[in-house]
Amino acid sequence: MSNIYIEKAEEAILHTYNRYPIVFDHGEGVHLYDVDGKEYLDFAAGIAVQSLGYHHREYTQALKDQIDKLTHISNLYYTVPMMEAAEKVVKASGMKKVFFTNSGTEAIEGALKAAKKYAYERDGKADHEIIAMHHSFHGRSIGALSVTGNEKYQIPFRPLLPGIRFAQYNHLESVKEQITEKTCAIIMETVQGEGGVYPATEQFLKGVKALCEENDILLILDEIQCGMGRTGYMFAWQEYGVEPDIMTCAKAIGCGVPVGAFVLGNKAAEASLKAGDHGTTYGGNPFVCAAVSKVFDLYEKEHILENVRTVGAYLEEKLNDLVEQYDFLKERRGKGMIQGLEVTGRSVGEIVNHALEQGLILITAGSNVLRFVPPLVITKADVDEMTEKLKASF
Ligand SMILES: *Cc1c(COP(=O)(O)O)cnc(C)c1O
Repeated sequence: MSNIYIEKAEEAILHTYNRYPIVFDHGEGVHLYDVDGKEYLDFAAGIAVQSLGYHHREYTQALKDQIDKLTHISNLYYTVPMMEAAEKVVKASGMKKVFFTNSGTEAIEGALKAAKKYAYERDGKADHEIIAMHHSFHGRSIGALSVTGNEKYQIPFRPLLPGIRFAQYNHLESVKEQITEKTCAIIMETVQGEGGVYPATEQFLKGVKALCEENDILLILDEIQCGMGRTGYMFAWQEYGVEPDIMTCAKAIGCGVPVGAFVLGNKAAEASLKAGDHGTTYGGNPFVCAAVSKVFDLYEKEHILENVRTVGAYLEEKLNDLVEQYDFLKERRGKGMIQGLEVTGRSVGEIVNHALEQGLILITAGSNVLRFVPPLVITKADVDEMTEKLKASF
């Protein structure tokens, strides 16, 4: 059956992805089922999105209820879900103001605009620079691509944004070297995801924050992948005690509906984007905000952070065991439920394909890393099952 669907899809869908040859039908908890009825244990969560697992009853009921009331009305008016979702983001982050977007890349665009506007308000100039990191990933729209430190993605689309300088992640000196009097922002992921799962060292993150404060530069932390509880903290920066001036969210903030956000701290909230400076038709509509609002409630009700800390530690232990056992596994990196295994001398793509045959969904990061970003509701038994399936795929 699935071959027919795949052929038809390839006839009509622009081929920008080399998709795995699976046609999914539905999900339940941490399992997915394809159109032929085969079951998969999911350790990818739709790329770090489905934190609550699939077909969560209370979550889907909240969406159904909202669909029956109102899905969209534009940002010319207020809605109660928008108010509730914003309140919960502000409370969880301790930051000041939020702007809802439709995706991660749009959250990055908004963050870059807010930083530029902040600097413009300060000195009236319009030539500001932004420092970004090598091996970063911030999205595919032109602004986000401009700060994504990966030439492979950038080259065909040049010229990109001017005034972007790149530094080495976890290398404070290299950041210092790129600062000029024009620098308005430093943007980085708190844990690099797509680039190969590299958490920021405490020394680096604190050092960057200090540089930002000394030079009146805004720190933008991209929490699109590592945020929303994935590291065991609602936002990864909370573990470091380093609050950004601007934070970006997406992926798990809606647990399956397209929504993102950029969130401003005191400084940026007071003196950056004003009425007329930024907008979106769909962004933050009552449908997606009902999802965001319910996601925050369910994180609390189901003790998601506690689960990430205990089961995440167990996952870490199991992955460390694998590194001990298999020579081609070089190291484990990550925090909580964003983990990577670096592979040498074997293709990660092939391992992922073997895993799929075993009924295990994994994804890769960088060119040689197996990435584990499961739903945050997994149990130790799920970790054990994953480990067995992974060994079989080795
Ligand atoms: C996925 C991701 C993005 C882009 O989000 P989209 O919703 O795909 O546009 C940006 N930054 C990070 C860290 C991501 O993981």
